[in-house]
Amino acid sequence: MRNAAIIVAAGLGRRAGDGAQPKQLRPLGDKPVFQWSIEAFRAHSRISEIVLVVPSGMQNMFSNWNLPEIRIVEGGETRSESVLNGLNTLRANPPNTVLIHDAARPGLDQATISELIAALQHADAAAPALPVADALKRWKHNRASTLDRQDLYRVQTPQAFQFEAIHTALSAKTGLVDDLAAIEAQNGTVKLIEGREALGKITFPEDHVRMERLLMPPLAAPRFGTGFDVHSLEPGDHVTLCGVAIPHTQQLVGHSDADVAWHALTDAILGAAALGDIGDHFPPSDPQWKGVDSAVFLKHAVEIARAAGWALSSCDLTIICEAPKIKPHRDAMRASTAQITGLPVTAIGLKATTTEGLGFTGRGEGIAAQASAVLSALPPQNEE
Ligand code: MG
Repeated sequence: MRNAAIIVAAGLGRRAGDGAQPKQLRPLGDKPVFQWSIEAFRAHSRISEIVLVVPSGMQNMFSNWNLPEIRIVEGGETRSESVLNGLNTLRANPPNTVLIHDAARPGLDQATISELIAALQHADAAAPALPVADALKRWKHNRASTLDRQDLYRVQTPQAFQFEAIHTALSAKTGLVDDLAAIEAQNGTVKLIEGREALGKITFPEDHVRMERLLMPPLAAPRFGTGFDVHSLEPGDHVTLCGVAIPHTQQLVGHSDADVAWHALTDAILGAAALGDIGDHFPPSDPQWKGVDSAVFLKHAVEIARAAGWALSSCDLTIICEAPKIKPHRDAMRASTAQITGLPVTAIGLKATTTEGLGFTGRGEGIAAQASAVLSALPPQNEE
């Protein structure tokens, strides 16, 4: 048994687009709409070949994507002609069955493909369909009348066919509302399987938004963390803050380079990811961290947060001291923080304040720093 798939992307479908880009090329999540269907068919073990029917003269727009082993065919004037073009390319070595699918229905799942192939064992054609839930009215000559919706169904795609049956039927009659109609016209047997909301078609812009909500798992809410650190001062010639050596008459005391600002930021990131604190990862008792560049700590925090599914998206720092003056070094400190964290400089806030001469910072005995960090959820990894 060989089963082929034809994906019809030949309609220009600009109603749901931004005016210039056809709806089947618009991005939905990490890929264009049509590619969702390609991946669904490709993932199914019983689909052996895929034909993509594209608008005539628009093959170039589709060649931007990597589509190995996909046959790209030009569409015709009507949907039926486009499908027929797809069928004709399969004609030389015809499959037993063919599933014909709208590219504008990105929510195709594996079970639907399996059920359709199974249904063809006892029918010329099969399609997913949903009962009509709303009341149906006919409105004519200013009068409403009620239709019985009991036996009415909304038919979706893929529509599945015995290859010879659909090729013969469509060759005889084109210009139909869907491919199933060609089989009906020949009195062929049709089986309906249960349709799915995710198989809905993107026609209007709001359909695109709805489909995105259905197909893209919602991302977790951002996480927020805070950090605080203090290091004492002793006589010296510079302090290191955010990796920048700032000339001063004192230096910061600590096991590492005592970069109080990056220590606070490291804790803010670890805090937002709920991954402990800087002391858990770099115990001061461990001699390997003696005199180490605090960039190592900061980088590690960003990396383990990422491994846990969180990307640093912004941070804000406050340095609390009487001296040295921070402002002249602010841009250099933001730039070095950007370099280590991978953040754009514009996502890094950096401020300095004094404590009006009060307390240990006011007396010049130490420098304090506080930091906040926001982590955004990374999209889940594709496990295919
Ligand atoms: Mg510290």
